[in-house]
Amino acid sequence: MNTSQLVDPFGRRITYLRLSVTDRCDFRCTYCMSEDMQFAPRAQILSLEELYAVADAFIGLGVRRIRITGGEPLVRKNLLSLLQRLGARDELDDLAITTNGSQLGELAPQLRAAGVRRLNISLDSLQRERFAAFTRRDKLDQVLAGIDAARAAGFDRIKLNSVVQSGRNDDEVLDLVEFAIDRGLDISFIEEMPLGSVVSHSREQTFCSSDEVRQRIEQRHSLVRSSTVTGGPSRYWQVVGSDTRVGFISPHSHNFCGDCNRVRVTAEGKLVLCLGHDNALDLKRLLRAHPGDGERLRQALVEALRLKPERHHFASDEQVQVVRFMSMTGG
Ligand code: SF4
Repeated sequence: MNTSQLVDPFGRRITYLRLSVTDRCDFRCTYCMSEDMQFAPRAQILSLEELYAVADAFIGLGVRRIRITGGEPLVRKNLLSLLQRLGARDELDDLAITTNGSQLGELAPQLRAAGVRRLNISLDSLQRERFAAFTRRDKLDQVLAGIDAARAAGFDRIKLNSVVQSGRNDDEVLDLVEFAIDRGLDISFIEEMPLGSVVSHSREQTFCSSDEVRQRIEQRHSLVRSSTVTGGPSRYWQVVGSDTRVGFISPHSHNFCGDCNRVRVTAEGKLVLCLGHDNALDLKRLLRAHPGDGERLRQALVEALRLKPERHHFASDEQVQVVRFMSMTGG
């Protein structure tokens, strides 16, 4: 067995880790959390030291890109100390964060200084009341100020992520694209994934495919297929005459599993090999039983990769297969 890098049974080399640092969030987006969300007890969440040990093991096995996720990662106390340690690792080609943007007004310069290169900022609506209804928090202005602060901080790239729902915000697709173009940002439109228990709406009624979204954008803008390969699930198109790329993340309508190079670790230390399956390895138990034993951790990761499934099996008319809150797996 090759223990110097992570290769799954289908020959896919794992170079990308999504590391969730908290299940908590200051928003309560309707497709993600209930208002009275029960979070994991703090002792169940990996410590910053344990999170670094996990990242270190993955880096030792060839991971070159790490994305910090949540919940909302920026509500994790002392996150900057972890980011500074990761930012100092020369092996990493990329250190990125996915955030709801609410804390960026204060933290953007410190994140950049710590070595974070790219940000993904969630933004589903530019309309205050709608934003408040989606997130159950009236904080659009705070997020927009956070986006401005991030632009000023000089990240390599900032991307907006918008979950599009038919009849809810699909009429804002063009407004969101204009917003991104005006600010030199990229934007990805995401089909809602069948994860978590959502009671506020039926997903069949709100499903809006990436193809529909792209057709709307093409009513106003020319899009050309971008050669950008991020290793992520987005397929990118360049908006002609702008710096903006538009991405489409389509877990339902296009199968992107074939070149999946990523795994996730939840805030509770579960290694999730694929969002569409329940295979998971409890890294926390291992970390706490054998603290400081990096070799054992790396060996466990190599062995776990044998369980990475070939593909997910989401379909918009299928029963939800995975009942797991997005805030636990870090999207
Ligand atoms: S979708 Fe993101 S911002 Fe919204 S509640 Fe979930 S973790 Fe928080």
